[in-house]
Amino acid sequence: MKRVVVLGSTGSIGRNTLEVIATHPDRLQLVGIAARSRIELLAQQLERFNPRFVSVWEAARARELSQRTGRPDVLTGAEGLTTLAAHPDADLVVIATSGREALLPLVAAIQAGKRIALASKELLVMAGPLLMRLVREHGTTLVPIDSEHAALFQCLQGVAPGQIERLTITGSGGPLWSLLPSERAAVTREQVLAHPKWRMGPKITVDSATLMNKGLEVIEARWLFGIPLERFQVVIHPEAAVHAVVELTDGTMLAQLSPCDMRLPIQYALSFPERWGSPWPRLRLTEAGPLHFAEPDLEQFPCLRLALDAAAAGGSACVALNAANDTAVHAYLEDHIAFADIPRLIAETLEQHAPVAEPSLDGILAIDAWARATTQERIQTCSLH
Ligand code: MG
Repeated sequence: MKRVVVLGSTGSIGRNTLEVIATHPDRLQLVGIAARSRIELLAQQLERFNPRFVSVWEAARARELSQRTGRPDVLTGAEGLTTLAAHPDADLVVIATSGREALLPLVAAIQAGKRIALASKELLVMAGPLLMRLVREHGTTLVPIDSEHAALFQCLQGVAPGQIERLTITGSGGPLWSLLPSERAAVTREQVLAHPKWRMGPKITVDSATLMNKGLEVIEARWLFGIPLERFQVVIHPEAAVHAVVELTDGTMLAQLSPCDMRLPIQYALSFPERWGSPWPRLRLTEAGPLHFAEPDLEQFPCLRLALDAAAAGGSACVALNAANDTAVHAYLEDHIAFADIPRLIAETLEQHAPVAEPSLDGILAIDAWARATTQERIQTCSLH
């Protein structure tokens, strides 16, 4: 029986993780959950799974949960997340919060030797070299949940680093890929948030529309697998049946195919190195095709270009990129800026940043705060504000 803690249990990945746990009650036990502020859903999850530990990010919401459920022991804030992440009663920690507040809890989980299932790509984008060094030092394993990385992780089982020629990350192209450039210029929020293949939270859906998501995924994969940036390729694949391809030095290509269902990569991250059966819908090859593959257009999707440039510039440029993007996307979601302002704001923040190759943890947090403040200042000057 694996004892599992889920940080971010009320988000899209967290809810799917709990469904995987409910599907395998003989193998998985939920011992702790943490959420930001969705108290009602968290209370339902407590009732259904009865985990021993619970943490709520906001103190006022933690008190509300205490009153509502009669639990006197609701943890809160950064300390609550860290306590859960490193708890002696947990074997495996699922990191499913999108925010940077999971960075220190993730470090604590690695230092405590926990197996990690990581869904938050932002954390590897911010601190990839540092996190992977800690993973090696503490002899633990970090299994990715992001579908493309789960695909690469599976294709790379049994492959030696010297046998890898190229890693291809596919992307459906998101909700705007199929539009004409003129239509893209006048895109509405409804169009941006209507992803054709995946149902996800609003932040990552906007990142899919700008293709920033693919850029963040290349950075995430580069650190996770320790493969040089120039061996990566992004390919647009609207049917989203093939999630990633590993090309070997002899020309062989290994691909992973599955339905667009996050329960599959989540289950694999929880079962690894085993593989368990699952009751969910299957991909049928005769119904999946024809399959299309295309080069991404970096002129039409400048966020992908910005991400690849930041990846080439150095570690701290990725910290600034991620923070500027997060700030701009949230401003877009709150109607303070236009869609086209997102890449412009990120580019302006990156222009002011002098990259450092391997910043320390404190350095990363300082660059993150600087980039957020710098981007926020510029948002004040946008016309919609
Ligand atoms: Mg992905």
